Amino acid sequence: MVSLSLEDSVKNLKGVGEKIGAALSRAGIKTIGDLIFCFPRSFRSGRIYPLSAERYGSYCGFYLTALSSPGVFTMAGGRRVLRYKACDENGTAVHIMYINQPYLKHQIAKGDSAYYFGILQEKSGGLYLFSPEKRAEAPDPEKLYPVYPTVGGLSSKRMEKLVEACLVQVLPQIKETLPQGILDRFGLMPRARAVFCLHAPPTNELLEEAKKRFAFEELFDFSVKATIFSRRQQKGRTEPFHRVDLSPFLDALPFSLTDAQKKVLDEITADLVGESPIPPMNRLVQGDVGSGKTVVAAAAAYLTAKNGKSTLVMAPTEILARQHFSSFQRLFQGTDIPVFCLTGSTSKKERDAIFSETTGEKPYILVGTHALVEDGATCGGVALAITDEQHRFGVRHRNLLGEKGGAVHSLVMSATPIPRSLAMFLYAKGKISIIDQLPPGRQVIDTLYVGEDKLPRVYGFLRERIGLGQQAYVVCPLIEDEEEKSPLQSATEEYEAIRKAVPGIPCALLHGKMKPKEKNEVMAAFQAGETKILVSTTVIEVGVDVPRATVMVIRSAERFGLSQLHQLRGRVGRGTEKSYCVLISSHSGKSARERLKKLCDCHDGFELAKYDLKTRGPGEFFGTRQSGFAGIDLGNAMTMELLKEASEAAETFIEAATPEEMIPFERGTRLN
Ligand code: ADP
Ligand code: MG
Repeated sequence: MVSLSLEDSVKNLKGVGEKIGAALSRAGIKTIGDLIFCFPRSFRSGRIYPLSAERYGSYCGFYLTALSSPGVFTMAGGRRVLRYKACDENGTAVHIMYINQPYLKHQIAKGDSAYYFGILQEKSGGLYLFSPEKRAEAPDPEKLYPVYPTVGGLSSKRMEKLVEACLVQVLPQIKETLPQGILDRFGLMPRARAVFCLHAPPTNELLEEAKKRFAFEELFDFSVKATIFSRRQQKGRTEPFHRVDLSPFLDALPFSLTDAQKKVLDEITADLVGESPIPPMNRLVQGDVGSGKTVVAAAAAYLTAKNGKSTLVMAPTEILARQHFSSFQRLFQGTDIPVFCLTGSTSKKERDAIFSETTGEKPYILVGTHALVEDGATCGGVALAITDEQHRFGVRHRNLLGEKGGAVHSLVMSATPIPRSLAMFLYAKGKISIIDQLPPGRQVIDTLYVGEDKLPRVYGFLRERIGLGQQAYVVCPLIEDEEEKSPLQSATEEYEAIRKAVPGIPCALLHGKMKPKEKNEVMAAFQAGETKILVSTTVIEVGVDVPRATVMVIRSAERFGLSQLHQLRGRVGRGTEKSYCVLISSHSGKSARERLKKLCDCHDGFELAKYDLKTRGPGEFFGTRQSGFAGIDLGNAMTMELLKEASEAAETFIEAATPEEMIPFERGTRLN
């Protein structure tokens, strides 16, 4: 047998030719190391069940006999669907569908029996299995079978075979990344063993232990980086600002600040103003959706400008960057402080023009996407960085800024209120301000929770509202995995369905894969009221502000955390009209139902975040890297307790670490 190494190309594996090699490479899997760090997204038991209501919505195995030979038809959007009917041993019938796999037609004939694995779904009275995995041989009821993400169109079965072909051989090459002392102290599984157990867990307990190990590793890494950052901030010194009369700025606002806004602005001012050199500010401003964080941050930018310094405003997405740009432009209209916008779609020419204005000779405000930080080194005179965090958090960008800009004040705004204990961890032990009051006159958004069978009524409701001159959002969860996708769930297909259901009403589709320019056009048309219904994936979660939008419909609502749903709900109710949020879910799980009911009754972001933390753990609030990587979801392995342990371990580690040991953390190159 040829000996394999983690760095070898996947093409060294038997069965990987040009075609499969290209498919893997499209999904970012080039080496054997990449392959074995692509984990199953779940496991299924080998047990076989009858088709019954108890199985709706969960991934199970069934033994089925085809009642007809498959037919192929083409759906709106050009997808080709293979469909046939089958039944179990009790004679219960189910529709089986495969999307874009017409070649399967010749592998299935009437009367064939096989084992099928998939999510049983009930839709308009019928049962469906979408792209189930089909196996001829009887599964072992005691074994855990891996379900891999469909990478580059390769089936889970194919991925399983590829991993099997190299896993054991390369395991000894996997390096341990946690010090032995930490493994011992917290009883964590060694890294190589954890990799093995994530692919082929001998038992459920070992699978959980493996997840826990990786969750710990992520939290430890996060914590070490955060501690480095906070120490650097604390050690750094910068010239303080002199106190400035903010009334020209505040008096020009069309409203007066709430007491909560005033209090937070005072806290920020106290961080920035002083007599002798001060440590740079590291402050998190939390406040429920609509509590008015932007204007507080803008006042801090005003204070900065009146001290001759400049401000960067960073947003997670292009759409939100543009929104902030127009808010800041409006807020600074009557001042002599220029506001610029820099995003991925800014042309080279505009970019150069902006850079010639942002040398630092005169104060300015530069708004842009986070990417701007990465190549924003050319900007001069920056003293304040305002970061708008959305649902999930990461420490990376603030670190970057700290490195490049030296003593830069950092103000983070978060629209997802989180409990203090978690905030302290995520925000590198910074100071926390809370805007705990909404501006006067805010309405409560009526929230309803209905099953998918009520869709026709929901569409009717949309027609009615739009007839009154209002607008609506329809949000669909992002489903990346073909196998799991039922035709009605993805945004594209929802868009088609809505267009049929509301003929004559202008609708538009917005999703993450669109070019920034297209996204901006779609948003602009919606903001202008030309488009009435915006169907989207969660890209609109960002703080888009369209006062005429009064209805927020959320499909498969059970897939979202409560905090995220609350944030989505906050997109409506921004004008004077009564607003509604409709949660659609036919998920039968008890905890999912309870969570959605909770949202109907509760309108307090902090309380919802607490509930999320209690029922789903802190993984919900982390950036993608921390909450799961390549397939496996570590979210439920993350607990507050683990988080405490990891941050304790990080402290001890830093105390004793040699400079060499710290380098990978400082450079951010530690984890692959
Ligand atoms: P968020 O905290 O969700 O980012 P924004 O800063 O976008 O909220 O503010 C939401 C809306 O409320 C904006 O239209 C803003 O102009 C308005 N607003 C902010 N502060 C006040 C206030 N004190 N009184 C009235 N309206 C306010
Ligand atoms: Mg906002």
